[in-house]
Amino acid sequence: MSGPRLVLATHNPGKVRELRALLGADPDLTAAGWTPEGLDAAVVDAGSMGCAAVPETGVTFTENSLLKARAVVDRTGLPAVADDSGLAVDVLGGAPGIFSARWAGVEASDSRNLDLLLEQLAEVGPDHRSAAFVCAASLVTPDGTETTRLGRLEGTLLEEPRGEGGFGYDPILRPEGYDRSCAELTMEEKNAISHRAAAFLALRHDVVEVLLGRGPAGGRR
Ligand code: IMP
Repeated sequence: MSGPRLVLATHNPGKVRELRALLGADPDLTAAGWTPEGLDAAVVDAGSMGCAAVPETGVTFTENSLLKARAVVDRTGLPAVADDSGLAVDVLGGAPGIFSARWAGVEASDSRNLDLLLEQLAEVGPDHRSAAFVCAASLVTPDGTETTRLGRLEGTLLEEPRGEGGFGYDPILRPEGYDRSCAELTMEEKNAISHRAAAFLALRHDVVEVLLGRGPAGGRR
């Protein structure tokens, strides 16, 4: 059980911790004798495996997550998990979508992106401001099997940014059932309802099967 067994296609240590914690709570892995230390050794990030970032040239969240996972599999020969996410605004037909990080330009800051979006929605009333954070999480294995699961965090766009926490569009999305923006939630509250947590959770069974050496469930490439 020693050495890397699964690579997460990210250079963000927070995402690796999130995936390890999710796997650590899986009853099948625990029953098979997996410990937190075992998971730390088995589940690693792409940076530590010498993988460079991959251009996100796909036109859907699913395509981009698959591109990132495939690149890591090709580089390392190990199974890989990748995610891609963004904000989808209903009245804009799902935009900014895959362009979320660069909505106001390639080098645009989070606050420029958010300000531009608010400007575009200035005339849109509260009944038509529904939006969601969307995440695609993909698992690709060296035999070419690919599995993608989606997660969503539904909410309403505010007219003004609120809160200091979070990142990206967090200050303008108020999740369904809450009276605060995502930037006003604690990290624990946000993680409990986040699109990424939902997508990773939906993918967990497939990842566990790989770690247990039973092979993935999913379609072939
Ligand atoms: P990535 O999947 O980490 O590349 O995220 C793409 C972009 O989507 C980010 O730069 C943000 O603008 C936006 N985004 C994705 N997830 C969130 C979130 O949880 N909160 C706020 N913005 C997000």
